[in-house]
Amino acid sequence: MDITIAYFHPLHHPDVVKHDFDQIRAAGAGSIVYAIHEQEAQRWPRDLERGLRLAQDAGLKVYLSLGRYGNLFAGPALVPSWYTFHHPNSRVKDRHGRYHDISCFNHESFRGWLFKEIERYLRDFPLNGILIDEPRGPDVTCFCSVCRALCPDVADLQRFRLRSMIDFLGELCACVKGVDAHAKTMIALLPQDLGQVDELAALPHVDTIGGHLFWQLLQEDVSKVEEWGRSIVDVTRQHGKRSQLWLQNFNLDSGEEPTLECAFKHIAGLEPDEIGGYYYWRNNEDPCRVWQMTRGLLRGIPRRQLHW
Ligand SMILES: [Zn+2]
Repeated sequence: MDITIAYFHPLHHPDVVKHDFDQIRAAGAGSIVYAIHEQEAQRWPRDLERGLRLAQDAGLKVYLSLGRYGNLFAGPALVPSWYTFHHPNSRVKDRHGRYHDISCFNHESFRGWLFKEIERYLRDFPLNGILIDEPRGPDVTCFCSVCRALCPDVADLQRFRLRSMIDFLGELCACVKGVDAHAKTMIALLPQDLGQVDELAALPHVDTIGGHLFWQLLQEDVSKVEEWGRSIVDVTRQHGKRSQLWLQNFNLDSGEEPTLECAFKHIAGLEPDEIGGYYYWRNNEDPCRVWQMTRGLLRGIPRRQLHW
């Protein structure tokens, strides 16, 4: 089992960043996820380049998450997409003619812009792959002129929405592989979207399907973690793809901390290819204790044998 840690912290202070990456490596992690938001690469490319290089120097692979691009993906900063703000005509339009604050992925100009951004990141920064974080799609059926033209049968628009989202994510992953054949592609889903795992795992350029098994955030019993995780592990195995199960080690009060171990046991028992967790992520009552607990749990995972 490999370990991935989301590192959603500033890269401005090299000594702090280096210390953090050493901590993450010592917990047994082989990779980090770092999230970038629009315009950051233009504003502070040196911090990004140096920070991500420090991760690789510490022996960590780096996967980049596209934070809130087009408001279609999740991201750690609570900021809306500049693209959607500057291109209001790209927004999803529902059956009542109301606009929603997400760009429609069927707009060629949006895809072209997004794919160019991905290409630039892969070329300019030390990266090992791209992670698509909680893609939004079928929750609102889009009736924009582009979708109407692509799917003239209005009664079919809802199913078309899902089909075209799968197609969009497939094209995005193909774009990543086109730039760097060795780069890995990952899609992380929330439990309510697990119905898409089968179709996503069947996409030729997708390497890993992840699940955000956030029982506490979704106000579910911790036993749900096992059920959600199993569906991902089983289906990805059938397709010969990798599974990645995320532990919710954030937003916990002291009374909820013991369930962290319980959730971890559910996840580890499923033997996914990867376990994901967060480095000092938000809103824990005792952030240090939660990280120490996380580290202790991760250290219990059997390590891969080193070949000398
Ligand atoms: Zn549309």
